[in-house]
Amino acid sequence: MCVLASDSKGNSTFLSIGEERYLIDAGISVSKIKKKLFEIGEEISELNGVIITHEHIDHISGIKSLSEKHKLRFWLPFDTYQKIKKKAGNIDAEFIEIGEEFELGKNLIVVPYEISHDAIYPVAYLIKSTKGEPIVGHLMDCGELNSYLMDGFRNVKILILESNHSFDLLLKSDYPPFLKQRILSSKGHLSNWDAAKFICETRPSIVILSHMSEKNNNIETALAEIEDICSRHLDSSSFPFFVVVNGKERSVPIFADI
Ligand SMILES: [Zn+2]
Repeated sequence: MCVLASDSKGNSTFLSIGEERYLIDAGISVSKIKKKLFEIGEEISELNGVIITHEHIDHISGIKSLSEKHKLRFWLPFDTYQKIKKKAGNIDAEFIEIGEEFELGKNLIVVPYEISHDAIYPVAYLIKSTKGEPIVGHLMDCGELNSYLMDGFRNVKILILESNHSFDLLLKSDYPPFLKQRILSSKGHLSNWDAAKFICETRPSIVILSHMSEKNNNIETALAEIEDICSRHLDSSSFPFFVVVNGKERSVPIFADI
């Protein structure tokens, strides 16, 4: 798997298992998806479908072209579809519901989890093998953590996790007060401290820190704040391997045995 893009300008994650290839969100242009896939030796024509987390433009802007040019199937909540259908056009949609597992091709089971964000029906996804092993957790654009999410994502192999802002940098930043309030609210975004708490509770093997704010966070601060908390709660055997995605660096593919 590989995070192709992850910041406020656009988000998309590539997932490959066996012969099947999927995206989680398509918030970048088709040409950028093509370019990013090419960098990791993959082709857009090999994609089977896209699962969508919510309707914000940085998660859906590529849907219309992906649908028209590449005839892909999209898995998304009905309410999200209603919100985006003007922009996305007539897509091949399969509707999903919170708590209802669905099959993604031959090899994967996906569980949609309810999250708190200022969207109509935002979801996080836990992707499992057909044997029930949690392989990939995708938690982005989430304002508040809870035990339902922590229990669900426990011991996932690869966790793609929002670490949007450093609390200190956000407070000091020149963002207007209403925007700071929105980011910090229960419908906003996860801070580095939130991310650290989630990691300590769920104990993933690999963490991909993503959806990082350009102004209110940076790689060094995110890693320092998160590793500081993790080192106080996790021993070396449960300390995860960290990868950071900030939109500027080249995409790094992550491989895991399942
Ligand atoms: Zn959002």
